[in-house]
Amino acid sequence: MADFAQIKASVTIAQVLDMLVITGLTPTGDTLRGYCPCCKEGNNRAFVVTPARNIFYCFSEKKGGSVIDLVARFRRIPEAEAGRQIAAHFGLNGTSNGPGKVADNVPAISEGSPERKPGGFDPREYMKNLDPSHAALKDFGIPEQTVRDFDGGYCAKGLNRGRLALPVHDDKGTILGFMGLALKAELPEILYPKGFEPPPFFNLHRVGAGTLTLVSSPRDVLRAWDNSLRDVICPLVPLTPDVLDTITAFMRARQCDTLEFY
Ligand SMILES: [Zn+2]
Repeated sequence: MADFAQIKASVTIAQVLDMLVITGLTPTGDTLRGYCPCCKEGNNRAFVVTPARNIFYCFSEKKGGSVIDLVARFRRIPEAEAGRQIAAHFGLNGTSNGPGKVADNVPAISEGSPERKPGGFDPREYMKNLDPSHAALKDFGIPEQTVRDFDGGYCAKGLNRGRLALPVHDDKGTILGFMGLALKAELPEILYPKGFEPPPFFNLHRVGAGTLTLVSSPRDVLRAWDNSLRDVICPLVPLTPDVLDTITAFMRARQCDTLEFY
């Protein structure tokens, strides 16, 4: 039987959409969007397919993945069975490489780090103490590469001890400080330094033109990022009319045409 890496390398997600007879998706930028064919929840933009990376993501379920994950979720079958069905459908037979020998075809996200300017304290010094490969983060469900993309990591000492520390930027990309995300449902879910006033939104500095998506927590932003969705933010303050005014002005400046909520 074909192994997962071979399947991901040789079958496109568009072909798998055909295989599953998933239709009605609308091209939006470099993605296809529509109602989620797996959970059938959310609105007509909840389900996002990124053909260039051969992956999908559902904002309602906060889950996504490869062509194999898509077949598994859609048909409610284990991944191994999904792999078998794809291989059978597309006539992929035995592989000469054997499992584990072919590199996973999905390339790691390698966006450049945003430019940063030191604020009141030296964020680079603080970052040196963060561990993006700590085991506790794997249990949290955010891959190391995503934690690295966000310049964060497990914090072993100080205020954020035992938490995932992530830099918080203003909309221009200047680091304002670090927040500590709870890894095991401890409270508060987001911890800020004493006296720190968070900006209205997390991840706003990375947003480009097009559709801006508002999710409920930093963890949801990281999950979406992990699935190649870049223009995703979450509020760090209550959504008062003033805060909504700032996002409206920001959207105009960045030429974001639509705002989605999940
Ligand atoms: Zn879904």
